[in-house]
Amino acid sequence: MKKSFAAATGALLLASVSLTATTAHAVGEGPGYGGNETINTSILRTYDEVANYLKVQDAKQPQIELEVIGQSVKGRDLFLAKYVQNEDNPTILFLTQQHGNEQLTTEGALEFIKHLGSGKTKNVLDSVNVLIVPMLNADGAMGDVDFSLDDYIASGDRHLTRFNANGVDLNRDHVTKIEPETRALHENVLSKYNVDYMIDLHHQGANSERDGKLVSGSILYPTTPNVDPAVLEGSKKLGAIVFDAVDSTGWGHLGKYSGGSAETISRNGIAVEYGISTLLFEMRGMSDHYNEGAVLGQKSNGYLIKQTITTLDATVAAISDGSIADADTSFWDTLATQTARPD
Ligand SMILES: [Zn+2]
Repeated sequence: MKKSFAAATGALLLASVSLTATTAHAVGEGPGYGGNETINTSILRTYDEVANYLKVQDAKQPQIELEVIGQSVKGRDLFLAKYVQNEDNPTILFLTQQHGNEQLTTEGALEFIKHLGSGKTKNVLDSVNVLIVPMLNADGAMGDVDFSLDDYIASGDRHLTRFNANGVDLNRDHVTKIEPETRALHENVLSKYNVDYMIDLHHQGANSERDGKLVSGSILYPTTPNVDPAVLEGSKKLGAIVFDAVDSTGWGHLGKYSGGSAETISRNGIAVEYGISTLLFEMRGMSDHYNEGAVLGQKSNGYLIKQTITTLDATVAAISDGSIADADTSFWDTLATQTARPD
């Protein structure tokens, strides 16, 4: 099942992670895995590299505060990168990699942290607080789990899996909060800060389309009937900012995600429990999986990382300058739900 074209594709893989890659493939048209490309996870940062990166930024940037919010099942420190200038300012939380095999969102969030430290976006932080929890499922991201990943597609030593080390889907644990990763998020972030907005960043399968074109991602607001209407409206406005920012790139193409109403899912449960306007963002294609249709070839990596940065930049800017209050949510009425492209 694993085909080895490593020698031929190695250079391409390295080139494709660059944000300045000028490949002609739009993200929605980038090649899927399709069994004919080696999936090489060595281009993704390891947990240790993520932790070191955060510590370096913490040392470099006067405004950032790096906190350990808990430990994973296997004892890895879980981090919160925090920019809080004024507790009265509105606060947005970005969460990545609840599912360990969905890593490009983390790569994008790390680049965004670097942006926040640059002079370019500094003033933005005078009017908005930004919380970032990257790679919540650190054990799953490193394949350090108590079940077999032998049938996963990626080549090499590292596999990435959706589940935590105990085999639990963290994004179904937001009511009972049994797992240490979920508890760290709830006890040391959600309960501790007055969060107004949250974007939960994920990756979905590679073959969803809208209006006949493969999507670069999909978005959705809380769909539980128990969500407060004002909270829901905030989610829809957050979605409007994201849709406009991604759609206006020319290469971004978003559909509406089709999601359930269970409050075990963060998009629903966190909106109800804390009154936070949540948005789910599912980028195209996963980093590793046992199912070929879920994994995307690396040639779209640069665009997907960029899509994450675009999303974070745009939402922080819109909250900072207050323009989110005027966001037009009517697009939700016509945005088609994505569908699976037939084989
Ligand atoms: Zn996910």
